[in-house]
Formats: sequence, structure tokens, C-alpha cells
Amino acid sequence: MFKNKFPLVVVGAQWGDEGKGKIVDVLAEQADIVIRYNGGNNAGHTVVVRNDIFKLSLLPSGVAQKKHLVIAQGCVVDPKTLLDEITMIKHHHLPIHLSIDPRVHLVMPYHKALDRATELWKGKKATGSLHLGIGYCYEDKNNRFGIRLDDLNHPQIFKEKIKTISSLHLKRIQHVYEQKESFNINEIFNTYISYGKKLKQYIEDTSMLVEKSLKTKKVLFEGAHGTLLDPVFGTYPYTVAIHTISGGIFPYVGISPRAINSLGIVKAYTTRVGNGPFPTELFDVTGEIIRKIGHEFGTVSKRPRRCGWLDIPALRTATRLSGFTSLAITKLDVLSALTTIKVCISYKIKNKNYTEIPASTYEYENCKPIYKTFNGWRKDISKIRKFSDLPKEVKAYIKFIEKELNVPVTMLSVGAERKDTILL
Ligand code: GDP
Ligand code: MG
Repeated sequence: MFKNKFPLVVVGAQWGDEGKGKIVDVLAEQADIVIRYNGGNNAGHTVVVRNDIFKLSLLPSGVAQKKHLVIAQGCVVDPKTLLDEITMIKHHHLPIHLSIDPRVHLVMPYHKALDRATELWKGKKATGSLHLGIGYCYEDKNNRFGIRLDDLNHPQIFKEKIKTISSLHLKRIQHVYEQKESFNINEIFNTYISYGKKLKQYIEDTSMLVEKSLKTKKVLFEGAHGTLLDPVFGTYPYTVAIHTISGGIFPYVGISPRAINSLGIVKAYTTRVGNGPFPTELFDVTGEIIRKIGHEFGTVSKRPRRCGWLDIPALRTATRLSGFTSLAITKLDVLSALTTIKVCISYKIKNKNYTEIPASTYEYENCKPIYKTFNGWRKDISKIRKFSDLPKEVKAYIKFIEKELNVPVTMLSVGAERKDTILL
């Protein structure tokens, strides 16, 4: 039985890379329209359909199901990356039915330059940015200095804008961060105008489109990153620049508040890319085993992901913030290698117990995990397609998560491919 009702928002319950791409691909079969509403190409989603591997960073993961795709205004778009992704999809002989909101902000070369310069300047305190310029694009958006897709349809104004904005950013890079940089305005102008011509066919008011779709269609929203990377409620400042809690869909798509089902994607263990507190992080051979078997290396960055045990207090915070009405647990197959599996059930600082992530990041950095140990199953579960066929140890693990978070688990993932899925 298919228990995930539409409209549905899919968000990561941890620090990203939970397997949202795979789950969205599976769910998209039932949906009519799939909407990306936050983040830029710093997100990396992988969809595997038999021998085809799609590495996506801007196109919604419904693309391999040939669904209507939307990039809503809360996203920032690096036009070259998007055009390359569209070309890649066409090479797979898949149709592109895409609508992009004219209000999306564009990542400009000076955003990437600022990103590089700031990270160099921060040195050891760098946030681990990939220098893709996403955070700086959002900074310009918030300062009302941004370039929107719509600007490319007004070349004269666009040229004036990039002249002013890039000269301001250049001053910051040269005089504040004391680094060499230069921008060729004509080159930026010509390149972006040519991107604009190619993207023009996809432009549509997606706030209006989604509002209409919600009345008659099965709508699936795909969140990027993970709830705990939210810039306010996550582990600030080790976060992304835009809201990752599920409620972000309302301002980022441009629809009014209403009840929307929320599916939290929970990796069967925890990973994190870049810096920031991570109480259950493993620094031993178990961490290495998980990294190796789980291929825990960034889709975009290729950086090794930090690996650790499942963290219930962190998931409790994510469940509260993103209002999960159901859960999907992914990468269960990775844990098959382990004899015992630990789960953090609460944190401690001295004698004080915490059942959720504390509001203060300073306090969070001092939290020590309290663990409960589970027996591993030590069996290949990747071919299993029915919950009843799973080893009793896997069932116990799932039931424990369900009980602790008080949210039903509706999907299990036991492999990267679309077919490696158990619906409950
Ligand atoms: P996302 O950012 O949440 O979409 O996740 P990523 O695609 O960045 O990372 C998840 C990785 O795990 C991808 O390489 C997926 O192909 C893979 N994956 C997803 N689900 C499973 C699973 O259940 N088992 C295994 N072994 N791999 C999975
Ligand atoms: Mg990812």
C-alpha cells in the first residue's frame, strides 16, 4: 500500500546526503509534478535506474520519471551547470519538461570569486564551502543586489547592474581580503545573455503554476540539503544559506500555508560534509567501514564524508522542525557489515541530559552521546523487497526509530537503485 500522500514534501532529516534523490525518484512515479525550491548546485542528488546513473544538482530528481519539473524562486541557478544538466538528460534520451521561475537568482562569476576569497581569508575557520558561490548569491539576493533570470531579458539594465555590483565585490576582494582578482564585464555580459536565450523557453511563473497544480495534480516538493543544515535552527554557522526546514516551501515556492505531508529521509547512520558539531562521529575503523561500504564521498565535492552512528536527539529536532508525517530509512544495506550497531539515544553535558539539539551551538559542541547497542544482522539484505522477509534485527532497528520519533516508517532503501526499495 502506498502511504505517502500528496502533496508531499521530501526533506533530509540529518545533515544532507540522506538519499533524497533516490527516494524522490521512486516517489515521482506516482507524482505529476516535482519541484525543487531551495539551494543551488551545491546540492548533489544521485538517481540510479539500472545502468543509468544521474548526478543531479539543479534539476529535480523526478527527471528520470519524465515528470514535469519545476525550479522555484527559492533556488539559485548557475546557468552553465543547469544547461549542462539539461544536455546530459537529453543524451539519455529523456524528455525535458521544465518550468523555471523568472525570480530565481543567478550565480555570477563574482559570487564564486567572493566565495574563494572569503574561505582563504577565514583559513582554519572556513565553513568548508565548495567555492560555488551559492552563499554569496543568496547574500546579494538578501541585499537586493541580485541578478534574477528575468534580468537577462533586459540586456541594458543587466549590463549596468553587473558593472556596479561586480565593482563593489571587487573592492571587497582586493581591499578586505587582499587578493588579486579581475572581472571582464563584456565577457560576463555576453556569456550570460547567451545562457538567457537558451533558458528563455523554460521561464514560467511557478508560484502560479504550483498553486494551480495543487488543486488538480499530485505535487511532490524536493528539499535540498538536510533539516539540520538550516541557517537558523541548524548548527549555525556550519549551515547552508537558506532554510532547509520543510516550511521553507511556502515562501520559496510562493504558496500560502496549508497542510502538506512531510517525508523525512533518514540515513540508517549519520554523515556530515564540512565542519560543525557531530556528536556521534566515528574516528575509528567502524567509521572507515561505513565510509567505504556506503561510498560516503560527496556527489559534488568528492570529499570524504564524516561518518557516525544514528542520532535520535538530532532526528527528534529534525522531526519537530520539519513536521515529518512519515519517514524513509535509507542505506540499511550498508550496516549489514557490522556485528553491533549503536544508536545515540540522548546527549549529556556533565550531569545534564538532552533529548534534542540544544539551541546554543556552543553547548552542542560539548554534548556527549549516550548509546544503546543493537545486534547487527550480518546478512545481505539488498535483494529483499518485503518488510516481513527482513532479519529480525533490522525490524527491531526500524521499530526502535519509529517508536522514538513517533512517526511511521513508510519506505526502506536497501540499495542505490530504484528497485532496491521496500514500501511498508
Ligand atoms: P541526497 O543528497 O540526499 O540526494 O543523497 P546523495 O545522492 O548525495 O547521496 C546518497 C548516495 O547513496 C548516492 O550515491 C545514492 O546513489 C546512494 N544511495 C541511496 N540510497 C541508498 C541505499 O539504500 N543503499 C546504498 N548502498 N546506497 C544508496
Ligand atoms: Mg547529496
